[in-house]
Amino acid sequence: MLAKLRSALTQSRVTAGTGSARVTGPIRHQQRLVYAILIVMALYFAVIGTLNVIVFADYPVALLDYAGAIGVLAALVFFHRSGNLLIASWLVVLILIGVLLSFIHMAEGRNYSVIWVTVLPPVAFFLLGRRAGAWLSGLIFAYVIGFVYLYLPQWPPAQMTLGAWLNIVEVLTAQWFIFRLYERSRAEAFAELETLSITDKLTGLLNRSHLDTLLQYELERCSRSGQPLTLVLCDIDHFKRINDEHGHLTGDIILREFAKVLRQHTRANDICGRWGGEEFLIICPDTPVDAAAAITSKLHTALAAAHFSKGLSVSSSFGIASQTGTDALQLSDHLLRRADDALYDAKRRGRACAVIAAGGGAYQPVPRRAKVT
Ligand code: GH3
Ligand code: MG
Ligand code: MG
Repeated sequence: MLAKLRSALTQSRVTAGTGSARVTGPIRHQQRLVYAILIVMALYFAVIGTLNVIVFADYPVALLDYAGAIGVLAALVFFHRSGNLLIASWLVVLILIGVLLSFIHMAEGRNYSVIWVTVLPPVAFFLLGRRAGAWLSGLIFAYVIGFVYLYLPQWPPAQMTLGAWLNIVEVLTAQWFIFRLYERSRAEAFAELETLSITDKLTGLLNRSHLDTLLQYELERCSRSGQPLTLVLCDIDHFKRINDEHGHLTGDIILREFAKVLRQHTRANDICGRWGGEEFLIICPDTPVDAAAAITSKLHTALAAAHFSKGLSVSSSFGIASQTGTDALQLSDHLLRRADDALYDAKRRGRACAVIAAGGGAYQPVPRRAKVT
């Protein structure tokens, strides 16, 4: 299951990376973060630059601040137009490093300037991730420590004692570790939330909203590659009776057990989820309709052999609809409606059977002998 979820997560990221597709998952959050950081940075540079003009009359440093603000605004415009998160993130971090190092050089590495380098890790880790953030911050820290060390002999002792120098090293090292830890825990918590957001709480299968996303993605992918894609909609037969006769809790347990049978008897490539209530959806990428019919036959046998709680026997009806590689791309709603109509027909034909929807628009119920027994 975990492997399946992981592959589902990967698929959601792939979706996010393909131009026209909807942006989902962590990338959406990072985009917002980039906007926020860019705006705050631009404001920060502008305010500090103005303070340097008005209060300190330090024009070279003010010029540097304004250059930083303009650079960040340019990155903001670039990001807004292109949506290229990676390049925008690197631009921002490099602008920040450029301004920080220039400032430290202009101030000849004195304490008040050096301490500014501690703003680098939050920005670098947030925007570039743990690995690049750690490397970049570590390298710049090492550079600044080396720079301060070189200037140390030129400073009056009162201005830069060894204790102060050690303090700076300690602060920078602590910051490096704290932010590295912070980024790791944030990334893990986020992955956990992401998994929860795509999972059906009761059965542990994928939930409907994620099935929707994956279906759209798989439909587009199969249409591009010319491979068929088949949907199998499953609905437990007479489930209401189980609830009525054995209680809702037993109904929940049966749903979990049913989901387990689905999981165990579908292929690793198939995407399996709870569509709602006692209905489940199996998306079978690169699968022609006959292969999906074989899956329902296998599932029917597995359900008959499974040991359900309270010795209950559980069967399911199946509606199958597929898109062949040569079909024009169908909307997921259209394909789902065909599978749903076929499922309805399976119910009408006495349940515990599978009905295949005909290709194109309208479906054709398979003859009664298609009932799986
Ligand atoms: P059919 O063979 O025609 O599908 O009949 P059915 O009884 O399975 O279908 P019906 O739509 O009449 O009833 C479905 C029932 O599933 C009603 C609803 O209370 C129950 N149900 C939906 N979600 C849950 C759930 O999460 N837990 C439990 N225990 N029951 C649920
Ligand atoms: Mg139903
Ligand atoms: Mg039912």
